Amino acid sequence: MEFELTDEQRMIVETVGKFVRTELDPHADEVEKLDDVPPELARSIREKAIAAGLYAANMPEDIGGGGLDAVGITLVERELGKTGFALQMLVARPSNILQACEGEQRDRYLLPTVRGERHDCLAMTEPGAGSDVRSMRTRAVRESGSDGSDTYVLNGTKHFISHADMADFALVFAATGTEETARGTKNLITAFLVDLDTPGVEVRRGSQCVSHRGYHQCELIFTDVRLPAGQRLGEEGRGFALMGEWLGASRLQVAATSIGRARRVLDLTLDWAAEREQFAQPIGRFQGVSFPLADMATELEAAELLTLRAAWKQDQGTMTDRDAAMAKLYASEALGRITDQALQTFGGMGLMAELPIERYWRDARVERIWDGTSEIQRHIISRSLLRPLGA
Ligand SMILES: Cc1cc2nc3c(=O)[nH]c(=O)nc-3n(C[C@H](O)[C@H](O)[C@H](O)COP(=O)(O)OP(=O)(O)OC[C@H]3O[C@@H](n4cnc5c(N)ncnc54)[C@H](O)[C@@H]3O)c2cc1C
Repeated sequence: MEFELTDEQRMIVETVGKFVRTELDPHADEVEKLDDVPPELARSIREKAIAAGLYAANMPEDIGGGGLDAVGITLVERELGKTGFALQMLVARPSNILQACEGEQRDRYLLPTVRGERHDCLAMTEPGAGSDVRSMRTRAVRESGSDGSDTYVLNGTKHFISHADMADFALVFAATGTEETARGTKNLITAFLVDLDTPGVEVRRGSQCVSHRGYHQCELIFTDVRLPAGQRLGEEGRGFALMGEWLGASRLQVAATSIGRARRVLDLTLDWAAEREQFAQPIGRFQGVSFPLADMATELEAAELLTLRAAWKQDQGTMTDRDAAMAKLYASEALGRITDQALQTFGGMGLMAELPIERYWRDARVERIWDGTSEIQRHIISRSLLRPLGA
């Protein structure tokens, strides 16, 4: 067992950490106030990330990505997690699922996305289909023309689609049929690459979210959108399996950003507990303040070990859905507890916009919801424990 980072991993942490401090953090207040990242700023951050070799670090080297393994990308995400999502997402990663692109799709979608010329978003969730994503109503009906054309006609609505307002195309999941399963009739899902300027596609800004100002959710409305069969990603009816192949990576991303953010919050809280005086001594001398600090540090270490272990297992090809679910569940819930306790330690100042604590507290809340709620992670973990026992 080896817990030390290699020299290369240490260099990754230093490089990304410096990028966060010098290129992202200075803009955090402005993004928060505007609830937006001005396009010029977004462009400049992306350019700097590309120049620093940080862009698309999750993608294989032979297609122009950073070629980092799962432990490497987890360390990158951990450092990026120290700032808000609106800024960190400008540096980070295109959807891994794009690696399923074949033939012409690689030139139109995968490669320009890795180069930072095009931007993707992922559209799965619908107003009526969240955790139960297979119950989606968005449908793609295949039509074969007498001229030999092979087209899908897409209709439906997606919501909560992150950064669709900054994207050029979406990975859209739609029902293309049904199958009988032990739990009744279920949709067969297929993935499509949909350019957002295709006739019949409308992108609307969604409600304002309490977490991660400047990182917007959108509605995507599809009305008789005609997609040549070449826009299908992977095989028909295999979209759900395709999603499943990459879901572990996105859950590790949530876990990694959660531990990065928790680390920063803990550091700020330690400084405050050491400096803020009441009753003529630093508040950190009161056990009521210091014991929660011990709990915060312990939970953070545990979350980090669980997350890095899952990433290490991914590199060995042995990571299970349970490993990723445990990391996501524990790290996101630990972040929630740590930010809440941090705010308590700051007292009234913790609630004031003048300090970043209330922001971290608000931002932490979404981590327990997106990429599968805590309940869904518990469901995955408990099923993996009970299924072998026949329960
Ligand atoms: C800010 C934000 C950004 C997002 N970005 C994207 C995106 O880019 N693309 C995308 O496709 N989606 C995105 N999502 C959607 C996100 O993945 C869903 O919100 C999430 O999966 C939960 O679905 P839901 O909100 O419909 O909640 P619901 O599924 O309605 O759940 C409501 C409650 O019921 C519980 N519940 C549901 N089923 C069960 C069960 N079987 N057992 C126990 N409890 C259960 C849930 O845990 C939750 O507490 C985003 C969401 C948010 C908030």
